[in-house]
Amino acid sequence: MQNFTYITRPSRVIFGRGTLSSIGREVATLGLKRVLIVSTPGQKDLAGQLATILGTGAVAIHAHAAMHTPVTVTEDALKVVREKAIDGVAAIGGGSAIGLSKAIALRSELPQLVVPTTYAGSEMTPILGETAEGRKITLADPKVVPNVVLYDVDLTLSLSSAVSAASGMNAIAHAVEALYAKDRNPVISLMAVEGISALTRALPAIVRDGQDTKARSDALYGAWLCGTCLGAVGMALHHKLCHTLGGSFGLPHAQTHAVVLPHTLAYNASAAPDMIRALAPVLGNDPAAALHKLASEIRAPKALRDLGMAEADIAAAAELVMANPYWNPRPVEFGDIRTLISRAWAGEAPQG
Ligand code: NAD
Repeated sequence: MQNFTYITRPSRVIFGRGTLSSIGREVATLGLKRVLIVSTPGQKDLAGQLATILGTGAVAIHAHAAMHTPVTVTEDALKVVREKAIDGVAAIGGGSAIGLSKAIALRSELPQLVVPTTYAGSEMTPILGETAEGRKITLADPKVVPNVVLYDVDLTLSLSSAVSAASGMNAIAHAVEALYAKDRNPVISLMAVEGISALTRALPAIVRDGQDTKARSDALYGAWLCGTCLGAVGMALHHKLCHTLGGSFGLPHAQTHAVVLPHTLAYNASAAPDMIRALAPVLGNDPAAALHKLASEIRAPKALRDLGMAEADIAAAAELVMANPYWNPRPVEFGDIRTLISRAWAGEAPQG
């Protein structure tokens, strides 16, 4: 047992099926009268559905959220906030919609209600990654933590199997890194194992049948737990690699996590005995191989080259990781990281 500090963040979490219909009550409890709804363009209909439920309480819809939270989009949304005297934000959709809501809250301190419909987990964290002039800057601020998180399993039934698989692997990555975080603690480690267990059980079933409500429920429950892990303890090499590949080489967020995770897990395995012990009942004695196999089973992407990364960028990516590394249980060496990225680029099996 190592010493630890455990911090909880105040947020109200509602979980179930058909819960979206109760959002009016949550808006009323927060005393909001003029809500701005934000979403990505693809979730505009969902945003409209939310506006219908809120009636006159929904003053405007801003369906322009985008991956990696571009600051220009946030500035446009803030104009709407000022012009329409908005007193609260409601986001519906994946991490992109929730990122925009958090970016608005950071600058306006408006209360937020978020309805996550992917497994990315942003709703449970004080973290915000924003992009401006081609650079991604990640900050942590309690101001961006949503006041209310409303999980409605029914809204995830429309997620494609490809998005479900990649997003599910993204969630698992949060929990895996929590198990070897420098500031790990027993409560978050319990949540991490439970979250990984729920997702590894649910994802194959979802890919077989996206309408399997039991599996959908397990996956969203797992995503909540994994997001809580991301929000509670520090992340290491895996998140550093994915932030670099996404932020500097434009690779898609969840898919990059899916490809890289078995490789970072294999890299860190020898230096993270607590993680190996904790995962043994769920993933066996070689969790990296187990996740590589899971990725095949659920048809998640397995090679960075299939996500559009050029082979010529491998060394540059390794240099960027080395330039400002996160704490990691195993020391991070340039040659090892270049090899790790090369193997992930080519879709080879993970190697410690
Ligand atoms: P996303 O929000 O772009 O959604 C992924 C895909 O799912 C999109 O194609 C979207 O149209 C689709 N989708 C969403 N809801 C759907 C629904 N109900 N039915 C059908 N399709 C639906 O991406 P994401 O992977 O959810 O989130 C990635 C973003 O979140 C990135 O910007 C990443 O940096 C950020 N993120 C932040 C944190 C944090 O703690 N700050 C954590 C995780 C992810």
